[in-house]
Amino acid sequence: MRLQTTDYRPQTMKSVAEIGENALIRQLSRLVPGRADVVAGIGDDCAVVRVGGRYDLLLKSDPVIERVHFPPGTPGERIGRKAVGRVLSDLAAMGGEPLWILMDLVAPAKTAVRRIEALYRGAARLARRHGAAIVGGDTSRGPALELHVFAVGRVPRGKAVLRSGARVGDRVYVTGVLGGSLQGWHLRFPPRLAEGRWLREGGWVTAMMDVSDGLAADLPRLAAASGVGVEVEADAIPVSPAARCADHRPQTKDIRRKKGGESPAAGARSGLAHALGDGEDFELVFTVPACKSAAFEQAWRRKFRLRCSAIGWITGAKGRVRLREGDRISALDVAGYEHFRDRR
Ligand SMILES: [Mg+2]
Repeated sequence: MRLQTTDYRPQTMKSVAEIGENALIRQLSRLVPGRADVVAGIGDDCAVVRVGGRYDLLLKSDPVIERVHFPPGTPGERIGRKAVGRVLSDLAAMGGEPLWILMDLVAPAKTAVRRIEALYRGAARLARRHGAAIVGGDTSRGPALELHVFAVGRVPRGKAVLRSGARVGDRVYVTGVLGGSLQGWHLRFPPRLAEGRWLREGGWVTAMMDVSDGLAADLPRLAAASGVGVEVEADAIPVSPAARCADHRPQTKDIRRKKGGESPAAGARSGLAHALGDGEDFELVFTVPACKSAAFEQAWRRKFRLRCSAIGWITGAKGRVRLREGDRISALDVAGYEHFRDRR
């Protein structure tokens, strides 16, 4: 018989995988300096800084790395598009407008120039479509292809939509459909900039973020930032048609592992499990006061053809995110959706 032992090692003695991304970020944020003009630092989709004048600036950086974020052999245009799309999605989550982009390229020395050009063409096309200029960056030799994108955007002074504004009773909404990333959505998603900006300008939203790690990982972050709980209705979650198809095989081992922590041998997972756990949906999840929700839904339908679903509401059960399926309620967190794995 093996006795279970508790791990008393201090956090700094453990590996990144052992403590997880949230704890790592909390730990690192204690080490960094701040300034009086930082409105929102580490912990939101973008940093918000005050520089004087009518606008606050939004700052965001993000890496895209071969075998982690895309499989080898992925067309260059798609890699560039994804790298820029990820940071634009974070600007969208603040209700912001993109301005300038810097890109650092890391590539093995033997990489064909044609492939690098394709990568920049993909990045440039998406940036141009959203009015952002690519103004510089650097290049370095390295063991794998990597693109590191840094974006600056703006939002009217004091108007950035943070994760921390959700209030008890607010309705929770999500744009589009979830769960299609492993079937290629992560390489072709459109950042929801127009939607994010419209949501901010209309004064509809109290809190917002983009779905990058999956609802099961991202909703607890919104709840923690706002000091509230969330209850989600399983039947209301918009599952993408691609995720509904039976037994999806991951495009690469690494992508699958990063998102759910499970081995590829885990077998088929339900569409709902994909929608909750795969991540890289790059849709917006946001909260609207209940008294505005009917008017909001009407205004949304008039403005956008994109689906927008009410998936739940904000509760006073601080830090608790729960999934309701009929009479059954379960904890919704990275481990919490695991029980859906074998169902279809
Ligand atoms: Mg984000």
